[in-house]
Amino acid sequence: MELKYTRKNAYELADGEQLDKIYAFAEDYKSFLNLSKTERGAACEARKQAEKHGYTPFTFSEKLKAGDKRYFINRGKNVFLIRIGEEDVSRCGIRIMVAHVDSPRLDLKPNPLYEENGLCYFKTHYYGGIKKYQWTALPLALHGVVMLPGGVKKEICVGEEEGDPVFYITDLLPHLGAEQGAKTLDKGVEGESLNAVAGGLPAVGETEGEPVKTAVLKLLNKKYGITEIDFQCSELCLVPAGKARDVGFDGALISSYGHDDKVCAYPEMRAIFESDTKHTVISVFADKEEVGSDGATGMQSKVISDVIDSICRSLGADPIEVRYNSRCISADVTAAYDPAYGSVYDKRNSAYISCGAAVSKYTGSKGKANTNDASAELLGCLRDCFDADGVVWQTGELGAVDAGGGGTVAKFISNLGIDTVDVGVPVLSMHAPYELVSKADVYNLYKACLAFCK
Ligand code: MN
Ligand code: MN
Repeated sequence: MELKYTRKNAYELADGEQLDKIYAFAEDYKSFLNLSKTERGAACEARKQAEKHGYTPFTFSEKLKAGDKRYFINRGKNVFLIRIGEEDVSRCGIRIMVAHVDSPRLDLKPNPLYEENGLCYFKTHYYGGIKKYQWTALPLALHGVVMLPGGVKKEICVGEEEGDPVFYITDLLPHLGAEQGAKTLDKGVEGESLNAVAGGLPAVGETEGEPVKTAVLKLLNKKYGITEIDFQCSELCLVPAGKARDVGFDGALISSYGHDDKVCAYPEMRAIFESDTKHTVISVFADKEEVGSDGATGMQSKVISDVIDSICRSLGADPIEVRYNSRCISADVTAAYDPAYGSVYDKRNSAYISCGAAVSKYTGSKGKANTNDASAELLGCLRDCFDADGVVWQTGELGAVDAGGGGTVAKFISNLGIDTVDVGVPVLSMHAPYELVSKADVYNLYKACLAFCK
């Protein structure tokens, strides 16, 4: 018996075979990540992988039975993977895993295009909590959909393929940056100056008005059939261009846009595909988490309880009883301790990079407000199931008391009367254009999800 607790490094605990598994899992994760820059991308990829694993579309009125595997894509952005188990749902409840697949980014405004000084720009409105100064002077890719009249949907992705052009937000040269440098980081780059260069070639023969914007619109019309007004019926966003990359000589870490929270979505999806559990399991990809989970595709919507109710009705179970006996892992990232900024963390209660899946009893701020707070009983159950399966895990509190704080979807699920706990991957540089995670932590979250499904 170990009398004292010491946090362990997951790489130190791994033998050669486990290390191979950690690195192999990371390759699969990176492939998923590169195709999942937005929630629509992640939903599309989830559908493909679900179909490969024998999942078929879910309908609210259908009669389900043990062994059935279904997927439900809510409005192209919010995914429910459903596996009906042999165990009685009334007694055992449902094992639910939820991660979000939206990430901070720059959305285009409804009237985004304008020309100034010989350049054509996109006006943006940032989505989620970003440090605005981090989004200048880096290559950005354009993703999303545009609706043409008559219900024709055009999908757009520019800037991810080798040879594609990218988009670019300028920053001030340091030579003239004295005044900017004296401002707080928060004010150094303002939201209304996050305008991305979208063209610089004037239309032939047009010298009056906005020749560059005209030329850009001509290009867009030729390629996608869109006119300027169609932007008003679109969802387009700019995200950092490029793929996930290994970091360090040993490649122990991965830097990428959008780890938060695809780094939890991918492991939970793999777990529902690969688990041999007898329980009924639902794996959810949520949308709108970064802006408060409102709306029809966010976790504050009724859709999740509608899905649970529909499953219960179909199996002849009482949804109230099922929810009461269900458990949920809210799989979201937490802040990894960063020694460069040690003062905002509690060293003894932070999650550490490469020390495994991070369990957060609560998140919130200002005296544990606005958060789920997992019970000792639930945490005890979780410890037993993680330890039985050799999951490397740790606890993680998001920063020191009153240093700030944050939230996850955990409270929305637990408000439905479902025991919920946050378990995720520690991240360095969270919400930066490129975030950093450890492959060992990604793999241990996958093992944690597998253990949870049992
Ligand atoms: Mn998150
Ligand atoms: Mn986030």
